[in-house]
Amino acid sequence: MQRAVFSRGALLAQNTAAALESSLAPRSAPLLMRLDRSMSSLTIPPPAALLRPLEVPNRYLFGPGPSNVPPRVLAAGGRPIIGHLHPEMYEIMNDIKKGIQYIFQTENNMTISMSGSGHAAMECAVFNTVEPGESVLVAVNGIWGERVAEIAERMGANVHRMVKTPGQLFSNTEIEQAMAKHKPVLFFLTHGESSAGLCHPMDGIGDICQKHNCLFLVDTVASMGAAPIFMDSQKIDILYTGSQKALNSPPGTAPISFNERACDKMFNRKTKPVSYLLDMTHLSNYWGCDGQTVRVTLQCGALRHNGESWRQHKELAAYLYKGLEDLGLTLFIRDKDLRLPSVTTIAIPKGYNWRELLVYMMKNHNMEMTGGLGPSIGMVMRIGLMGYNCKKSNADMALHALADALKNCKKSKV
Ligand SMILES: *Cc1c(COP(=O)(O)O)cnc(C)c1O
Repeated sequence: MQRAVFSRGALLAQNTAAALESSLAPRSAPLLMRLDRSMSSLTIPPPAALLRPLEVPNRYLFGPGPSNVPPRVLAAGGRPIIGHLHPEMYEIMNDIKKGIQYIFQTENNMTISMSGSGHAAMECAVFNTVEPGESVLVAVNGIWGERVAEIAERMGANVHRMVKTPGQLFSNTEIEQAMAKHKPVLFFLTHGESSAGLCHPMDGIGDICQKHNCLFLVDTVASMGAAPIFMDSQKIDILYTGSQKALNSPPGTAPISFNERACDKMFNRKTKPVSYLLDMTHLSNYWGCDGQTVRVTLQCGALRHNGESWRQHKELAAYLYKGLEDLGLTLFIRDKDLRLPSVTTIAIPKGYNWRELLVYMMKNHNMEMTGGLGPSIGMVMRIGLMGYNCKKSNADMALHALADALKNCKKSKV
């Protein structure tokens, strides 16, 4: 494990504290008098917390994200700041763009990394491609579909949900029937449903969307780098991911790509998107896609080799499944070919209070695992071994912590 994890925000807070200290130090008499006057009008004193060094503990982040960040990526965050219009910045952005095209397996020119978390990319995709009143079809089999449905409703779309219990699949026939009925301009499906631990098959769905003149939007925040995805050959029109899951970067950047069909729809709209910040006409211009402030610690922490990374995740997941079953635990997704390799869901063991198990592991093993999210709360516990954390030694540690928690947490009589 790396030693200290300082977030950028934390460094910023430290720098602010340093700037505050030096601005409060008297320099010359006239300045002092001016300062005296302005300082006497300061009714809010500097908070003590800003003057203390920041302490952040080391922790094993074995939940569904954020994941631990490798030293190479952490070190990149310590590089100097340059201007957002400097030539070097454009060069870096260009390199990032190529990296995203590689991990997405796409030749789309309209490929950028936006400032914001995965949620920003969800909003960016919907806000730019849908106009108020248009029909949107959303596959809901966990939290993420539910959130996209709400995002689309908030901007005034006419939203149709296909709802299943967490972790269930949608057949291509069901998707096509719903599409024929609702005539959506956009269909949303989550590739790696991290709240349920499902990796949804993608083949054939892009063709159905094209046939029905509908854009295909896919969320790969939890699966990018851990499970195979091919944006171009799977005919995905809009694809996004996030930085802090298997990509092992700090939270706050979200790669997103739009193909020609998506651009056609997006740049021929009658109304402006509801968000200024997320408007692709500005973002694409800056990224030179017609070229945003990038945070450059970005991407590809563990992803220099897509195929290798997919294989590692699959192999380690198989090892983890066996260890969990040896502990007498039941995996939530029965069909192992449908399990998401980056985030494994376990059915809550009978008789245990899942919160107690999680608290025990955090307290005694300094290890984060989590419960369910949204509709899967109370159904599952989640273990994520992603990217840099995808190692046999970490799986052994996670299994050991779980075994210890199962042994030491009280089992109720029911
Ligand atoms: C985590 C996650 C998101 C949201 O990403 P944030 O960076 O936390 O905003 C979206 N979709 C899926 C599948 C996720 O696992």
